[in-house]
Amino acid sequence: MKIGILALQGTFIEHVHSIKKLGADTVEIRRPDELEGVDGIIIPGGESTTITHLMDYYGLVHPLKEMAQKGIPFLGTCAGMICMARSVGSPVNLQTLELMDIRVNRNAFGRQVASFEQALDIPVLGPRPFPGLFIRGPVIEDVGDGVEILARLENGTPIAARQGRLIATSFHPELMDDLRLHRYFLSLIG
Ligand code: GLN
Repeated sequence: MKIGILALQGTFIEHVHSIKKLGADTVEIRRPDELEGVDGIIIPGGESTTITHLMDYYGLVHPLKEMAQKGIPFLGTCAGMICMARSVGSPVNLQTLELMDIRVNRNAFGRQVASFEQALDIPVLGPRPFPGLFIRGPVIEDVGDGVEILARLENGTPIAARQGRLIATSFHPELMDDLRLHRYFLSLIG
């Protein structure tokens, strides 16, 4: 199994480490030809303005959309969620990949100093709470019919979702030791 990790900016090395710990191969993606033979794609956390700009610059937008259409699983964390969303509410309109039928709002929890960790109930990962790390993360404001909410904050705000083989989280599993979310992603392959 070979997982392509979009390595334009952000927490891609941390995703590489998480996937390698689970015994799968990784390839860092910066150019379209590097997508050859990849079984799954991860879009890391970082800055969605930068990542969307560089995806466009390096000609990755169309190839990535095609892979999602073929049923290749995707995992997007934080900025990666924004890149996968159908649309982005205020404060900035971004040209995303439009892979998932979700509308997100960027920086919904405030600035970097307002980062927080919260134990999350994510039923698909089992009964043990998952350590959710939020760093200027987005929230999901609206979802289409085919989208399953995987987790919510205590106030009901959706912060993780799945649509078929596409998964997006507002938080950063790649920055934690808990590998269950990456394992769940790998289970969608094949
Ligand atoms: N605030 C960033 C954005 O809008 C996301 C932050 C993150 O990925 N930790 O892209």
